[in-house]
Amino acid sequence: MDNFSINTKCVQAGYRPGNGEPRQVPIIQSTTFKYNTSEDMGKLFDLEAEGYFYTRLQNPTNDYVAAKIAQLEGGTAAMLTSSGQAANFMALFNICECGSHIVASSSIYGGTFNLIANTMAKMGIETTFVSPDSTEEELNAAFKDNTRAMFGETIANPALTVLDIELFAKVAHEHGVPLVIDNTFPTPVNCRPIEWGADIVTHSTTKYMDGHGAGVGGCIVDSGKFDWMAHADKYPGLTTPDETYHGIVYAEKFGMEGAYITKATSQLMRDFGCIQSPQNAYLLNLGLESLHVRMPRHCENGQAVAEYLSGHDKVNFVIYPGLENDKYHERAKKYLPNGGCGVVSFEIKGGRETAEKFMKNLKLWAIETHVADARSCCLNPATATHRQMNDEQLKECGISAGLIRMSCGIEDKEDLIKDIEQALANV
Ligand SMILES: *Cc1c(COP(=O)(O)O)cnc(C)c1O
Repeated sequence: MDNFSINTKCVQAGYRPGNGEPRQVPIIQSTTFKYNTSEDMGKLFDLEAEGYFYTRLQNPTNDYVAAKIAQLEGGTAAMLTSSGQAANFMALFNICECGSHIVASSSIYGGTFNLIANTMAKMGIETTFVSPDSTEEELNAAFKDNTRAMFGETIANPALTVLDIELFAKVAHEHGVPLVIDNTFPTPVNCRPIEWGADIVTHSTTKYMDGHGAGVGGCIVDSGKFDWMAHADKYPGLTTPDETYHGIVYAEKFGMEGAYITKATSQLMRDFGCIQSPQNAYLLNLGLESLHVRMPRHCENGQAVAEYLSGHDKVNFVIYPGLENDKYHERAKKYLPNGGCGVVSFEIKGGRETAEKFMKNLKLWAIETHVADARSCCLNPATATHRQMNDEQLKECGISAGLIRMSCGIEDKEDLIKDIEQALANV
């Protein structure tokens, strides 16, 4: 599929049926797989042969869909996980251990912030957070001898900051460390971080990739470009024998293209078991088949809603990188020339109460904690995800009481705007 465009890959990459085989990806609804001899099975346990033995580690349906996402991102290998949270945890824990250090952009999804700032800290993995607007010198200064990964989001959820991936990759590589990028919001249709120097890409497939609010899931893609052996002292997990598999060395046996995902599968999936169910992988693939058709519509609607809100007298400000006066517009033009995503944030005049009233008036936009769905939805953090905070505490998080996050679906933009118009008129 390498010679085909991303549009064609969305539809046909991954599962390629042979003569007389099912057209649709088969759902292999089986926990286990049968072998004729113990010797056959033994080869799998020694990682000497490829094949399946237990769905806690690997399942063919998942691998078909992971292979599609690997091709969309331009990577060499990929693995599906049970959620985006599991993807980010495993992507980092595959190369970090107690005593390691991470440099991460401070503008990231709240769940990921909590994961690395609190939960991974309890495992002895420390993180230094840096502004996504840091200069090269500031980024360099955050690195330590024990830094093992750099992390950021292409477009941050919900702040909508755009990361300078090329700069982050340059600095990470100067320190002999891979750059891990969460590419959930733009999807590979709008940005492929590997082309800008990222080494590992993660996704919450729950969002645009699934696209229909049907299944929670995640994915990790390896570019196959990071030379673990060249930094062997930093990554003993990949470059020294794994005694749980008769002493194989992942980077030697599976090379740069395969070492990282093979280790993540054979060690982390074996031990944590947060694999995506084959049923959800099937649903995810249905979403992927139309991703390239849906993303331009999400962006078109996002741009139209952002522009409409910008000119409204009941609105204080709008955050959307597609707007010319947005702080990240120049970066968006470089990294997201075809648009970023359909999520728009704005501050309504009158704070919490007006925000609640406005949202109650909406007829098409559902109030949900979800984003990136075919159906439009919205959220006021001050009365939902952040409701335990007072105005002072909200300010510290960079969120105001009147801030509303609008996730533009793929409905008709005129209908979406008309609905916003009447809802604003009646507050
Ligand atoms: C939602 C989200 C996650 C977490 O994904 P889940 O599938 O909800 O576990 C991680 N990163 C980003 C950017 C997200 O939007």
